[in-house]
Amino acid sequence: MPELLQLRPPGEGPEGGEAPPGIEISPDFREFRQAESVDQMVRLAREVLADPTFPTVRAWRSAGGKAVGCFPVYTPQELVHSFALLPVAMQGGGENLEISRADAALGSFLCSISKSTLEMALTGRLDPFDAFVFPYICDVSRNLDGIFTRILPQRPSHMLHLPQNFTSPATIPFLVAEYRSLIRKLERVAGRPFSESDLRASLEVFNTQRALVEQLAELRRETPWKVTLQEYYLLLRLGGLLPREVHIPLLERALSELKRRDRKNKDAIRVIVIGPFCEQPTLELLQLVEDVGLYVVGEEFQMLHRWCPQITIGKDPLQSLAAAYVRTPVDIGVRSTPTTKGAAVLSRVDATNAQGVLFLTAKFCEPALEDVVLYRRALEGRGIPYLHMEFEEKSTTYEQARLQLETFVESILFD
Ligand code: SF4
Repeated sequence: MPELLQLRPPGEGPEGGEAPPGIEISPDFREFRQAESVDQMVRLAREVLADPTFPTVRAWRSAGGKAVGCFPVYTPQELVHSFALLPVAMQGGGENLEISRADAALGSFLCSISKSTLEMALTGRLDPFDAFVFPYICDVSRNLDGIFTRILPQRPSHMLHLPQNFTSPATIPFLVAEYRSLIRKLERVAGRPFSESDLRASLEVFNTQRALVEQLAELRRETPWKVTLQEYYLLLRLGGLLPREVHIPLLERALSELKRRDRKNKDAIRVIVIGPFCEQPTLELLQLVEDVGLYVVGEEFQMLHRWCPQITIGKDPLQSLAAAYVRTPVDIGVRSTPTTKGAAVLSRVDATNAQGVLFLTAKFCEPALEDVVLYRRALEGRGIPYLHMEFEEKSTTYEQARLQLETFVESILFD
């Protein structure tokens, strides 16, 4: 193994010293089960996200569970859950992770999430995971799967091939076959065989979560003054980190409070945000978007919950899972539907009554950047204003971003 890809012992920090210990969460997740207010939930979410040692996964393990890291954008979480494994959204290292080893191993022209994910693997921060799934969404994710196979050989890594032809009769059988190949690895990790009835039960759990996520998105769409962008984002983000049986009642309590909130409509400009479907923008950037006077009424955050509104569970649940993925029209950067993307962005603008579009794309994210070209053409054809900004996981200054956003707002206000 080349020197650059050697692992540091767990617990050893990137500079060779002790890694920060990270926050501790009770094995029964009582902090989250007992969180009554949205403020409490959001505070907990901030703490969890600020800690790149996956505290929710460590808590799950301390109760004897096993966990599977799922790289964005789409992994059939229901399958993982059906084996009583915790599917965990691996969405980068965030702002608090110092990159040192991965920078030396990967080119400087790659997105931040690829480097932070590798950094976490090289520095033992992914030790609480038993397996990893990398959907083939781009060359970067494909290569990460190969690298993980080499550097963490004791823990299975699986590359999930996803279809890009959504009209062929062979597409659903192809995806079912892909799921079966993943199942074989999950059976080894879980030490138990696949069960259709367990998958059916898991599909029900995730359908419940999806319905609540949609309620939250609708609340944000219809009454964006009731839930801030950061609150909305953090409540969604918890959904990929907590056991779903903990997240579902938490979201129910949050919705109940948010619906009753009495806040004033600020008359901000309604926009949709396109691009952050994989790497995640910083919380500061989200705050800035709202501070300058924008209401985000549609976005691509946390698509793992939002591939389809509901999965119709038929006789064969594996087939149902594949059919839902294939038949739900989702136009985001990692799904190849070039002929419909222009129409899709316009229909999203219309459906949300948006006054403009904010492209927030991760730096060096090819799938997102390629789509911006298609979207812009359609928007220009209708005279809909847009702004394109790039972000990275770690940003130190937001002055330039603030200036761009303020100019965008003014251009709409004084048009
Ligand atoms: S941010 Fe873009 S380029 Fe990077 S892994 Fe995600 S989809 Fe691929």
